[in-house]
Amino acid sequence: MPLINGFKLLDIIKERHVCAGAYNTTDLITTMGILDAVEQSKVPAFIQIAPTNIPLSGYGYIYDMVKRYADKMETPVTLHLDHGKDFQNIKDACQAGFGSVMTDNAQYDYDENVKHTRQAVEFAESYGIPVEAELGAIAGKEDDYVNPDNKYTNPDQVLDFVKKTGVNLLAVAVGNVHGLNLDPNINFDLLKKIQKICPVPLVLHGASGIPDEQINQMVNYGVVKINVASDLRKAYIQTIGKDYEQENNRFDLINVTLDARKAIKDVVYHKINVMNKLAPVDIY
Ligand SMILES: [Zn+2]
Repeated sequence: MPLINGFKLLDIIKERHVCAGAYNTTDLITTMGILDAVEQSKVPAFIQIAPTNIPLSGYGYIYDMVKRYADKMETPVTLHLDHGKDFQNIKDACQAGFGSVMTDNAQYDYDENVKHTRQAVEFAESYGIPVEAELGAIAGKEDDYVNPDNKYTNPDQVLDFVKKTGVNLLAVAVGNVHGLNLDPNINFDLLKKIQKICPVPLVLHGASGIPDEQINQMVNYGVVKINVASDLRKAYIQTIGKDYEQENNRFDLINVTLDARKAIKDVVYHKINVMNKLAPVDIY
């Protein structure tokens, strides 16, 4: 199945009442590990990249490698832009063929956030793809970008924000944090309040540090997309580090990279299981 439009993926997620993971890639190894697990799970997913990770290869290479793998898959996948910080990011991703985009204007005050988000939605409409936006500000470290404030999503702004911007997915700040060094503490009362008010599906960022027993409840709170980045990157780097520690004179790069691909696959497969409470399957 070729890469699909984000609207189509959202329809499939709704029909099947599953929660889709959104896994951050950077390169070929990460892409392969993520898609190995997604295909094995048969649960639809987003694979995504933030502009911070684009400098390695550019939007075009990421699109080409994800598409090439997805063309052979049976499980539906959408390529998504994560944390588009400025309008140029949105343009670049749309033009490269991405199936959905996030516009992140959480650094602005409410009115400016509405204005910039609306601009992204109008542009993405011409490509027929959905837009995710953030209301509130998710704390923590996303690559080199550090946000020290955990500004919770204000439920009183949710309906107004969605109506004024026309956004299709809403990323919420409910105690989730980016990165692995802060303690996330999900406020389920707030999440429930937002779910009741919000006319569009919700997105949870920063799932790497959130305990499994909280992640597996998200499907019941209107959350359709859960972002996972740090855990994959950590698995990748640790695997290569361990291989080097075992034998610091090795040069069989292929085996080291295959180990990293497998480690990423294992993490993603575990996350998919947790999000959807799948019966544990011995797959390895
Ligand atoms: Zn994020």
